[in-house]
Amino acid sequence: MKIVLLGPPGAGKGTQAKSISNRYSIPHISTGDIFRKNISENTPLGIEAKKYINDGQLVPDDVTINMVKDRLQQEDCKNGYLLDGFPRTVHQAEALQLFLQDRGESLDTSLCIDVPKEFILERMTGRRVCPSCGASYHVKFNPPIVASKCDVCGSDIIQRKDDADETVRERLDVYERQTQPLIDFYSSKDLLSVVDGTKAINEVFESICRILGSDK
Ligand code: ADP
Ligand code: AMP
Repeated sequence: MKIVLLGPPGAGKGTQAKSISNRYSIPHISTGDIFRKNISENTPLGIEAKKYINDGQLVPDDVTINMVKDRLQQEDCKNGYLLDGFPRTVHQAEALQLFLQDRGESLDTSLCIDVPKEFILERMTGRRVCPSCGASYHVKFNPPIVASKCDVCGSDIIQRKDDADETVRERLDVYERQTQPLIDFYSSKDLLSVVDGTKAINEVFESICRILGSDK
């Protein structure tokens, strides 16, 4: 199963991706996570990406597309994958179509987690993440069991730099200008399903499973 997750930043893509990945046994590929790992390891890719990410801008298409192509050719992707945060521009979506076509493959669907703008600011500014294991929380909607500590590994959880109020507003603008057009892109190919992302985390997951069905 090959799935693309769409939706504004803060819609709950990463949160749902973890459950989808477990339920359907496909790797969760988050371009944001790959960039953040490279930033923390100070690699050349991380140094390049950081310039854009901290300002709420997109990393250039050529850098991002090459990174994703490399990742999709790894062994664990041979039975499918779940893309979270990619594609984010029409050019990226076209590159993905070409990549799949060249391999005689196709996407099963794109799933858009629909959350109106008024919900997003609270979701993103309240997001906390574990810098050690990547687990994600929300101070109000999904708090850890022990305040400020990761449930999974016990590390102190932190706020992402790009989740600060000003940067969130910039990221939402970027989303509207560059990523929202993908909804039409996939809809015109009959590859779009939409779920109501304003519901509770488990209800959103149930809606997604109804769409994806019981196949692995
Ligand atoms: P994305 O990957 O789309 O940027 P996340 O999955 O990181 O979004 O979710 C953003 C924040 O909103 C996180 O703090 C997460 O815990 C919280 N969140 C996710 N889904 C829901 C939901 N259905 N209701 C309330 N809060 C949610
Ligand atoms: P995310 O974790 O998906 O919210 O992504 C965090 C940041 O990483 C984004 O604001 C962008 O700066 C960068 N990024 C992630 N995915 C992409 C992509 N597909 N294209 C360009 N930049 C990206």
